[in-house]
Amino acid sequence: MSVSRRKLLRQIGVGAVVGAAIPAIRGFAASSAAETPRENFIAADQPARVATAADPVLLYRNENPYGPSGKVLGVLRESVTSSNRYPRTEYETLIGKLATLHTVKPEQIVLGCGSGEILGMAALAFLKPGKKLVQAAPTFPSLGKLAQTAGVEVANVPLNKRYEHDLGAMLDAARTSTGLVYIVNPNNPTGTITPRRDIEVFIGKLPADVTVLIDEAYHHFVTPNTAYESFLDRHFDDPRIVVSRTFSKIYGLAGMRIGYAVATPEMAKRLPAGFPNWSVSVVSARAASAALDDVEYVRLGIKRNTDDRREFMNQVNARMLRAIDSQTNFVMVNPMRPPDEVIEHLKKNHILIGPKYPVLDKYIRVSLGTPSEMKEFWRAWDLMPPTGKMAM
Ligand code: PLP
Repeated sequence: MSVSRRKLLRQIGVGAVVGAAIPAIRGFAASSAAETPRENFIAADQPARVATAADPVLLYRNENPYGPSGKVLGVLRESVTSSNRYPRTEYETLIGKLATLHTVKPEQIVLGCGSGEILGMAALAFLKPGKKLVQAAPTFPSLGKLAQTAGVEVANVPLNKRYEHDLGAMLDAARTSTGLVYIVNPNNPTGTITPRRDIEVFIGKLPADVTVLIDEAYHHFVTPNTAYESFLDRHFDDPRIVVSRTFSKIYGLAGMRIGYAVATPEMAKRLPAGFPNWSVSVVSARAASAALDDVEYVRLGIKRNTDDRREFMNQVNARMLRAIDSQTNFVMVNPMRPPDEVIEHLKKNHILIGPKYPVLDKYIRVSLGTPSEMKEFWRAWDLMPPTGKMAM
């Protein structure tokens, strides 16, 4: 295989698992509020949280601001005592739960150190010079960056006017010399969905040797509607499909670095080739199993996000701003002034939002925080001079 394994592994940060896990563990171990993370049960009428240089408001990485559930925190705390052991039964337990959840066989599940590692696996398995990546522009950039670093061509196909993947144009791009098509649904950074039916038709027309990776990192945040349906909730009988999911978003475990893929048994065998066997820590695997069991907390997370998103849009509208309708836990906003100035102004007020995306250069991406964090965000926002005074 011409793609350098070492390069890819370095890019996705394999080996940083332990380092990533320790600060997260330290944080909750020191907490006296045994079951409840800081803002887990925050009331909507709480005052704005004060942002400082040492404790900024983080609205930049689409994390879950409420953290994992109390039950998961309990399991994390207990699991720390097993830190001297390599994984024993933890993977099997988690894979069993995922297989049941998605009604597939255990051999169809691949665990990864975050779904970022799954993207790395897909790059290594399906791309090489002469076998390009086809993806949307803009989309989550990790896979494209991996491909570029490895000397693989990347076809960036602009989203259509509705901010959906332009599947017609992606099909044209994928007709020749293509190893992998990457579909992020809902998409990051736009927060928009591409209709399931269109994706099915698209896959049906792809050359037989092209694999399709459907990244469903933000699946849980979609408001139920007829256009969207997960490829895990209703299977589509095509062996070329790999679906990735993460524990970083709805489950609130971004710092634990755990995600997974669902594929055919053959694909699932092929994906991890060349990757370390044990990149998921015992602590992360146990936490993920507990998170799957806590279905009530998932429901609560969905409701909170729906409420927080609605309130965010109310504030956007009240200020006569424009935003792309989001189906995720972040929103692309046209601030009606230069995005760089907004990003800088918020940063000075210790509020960090997403980077600027070259393809949507009039927009900023804001991850939804807790109600008190968002109050602080809007307080800082309103310190900016009225729009007329800042030229676009
Ligand atoms: N896929 C998408 C669309 C993302 O937005 C992210 C992170 O924000 C990831 C994958 C990677 O997530 P993780 O490695 O934390 O599972």
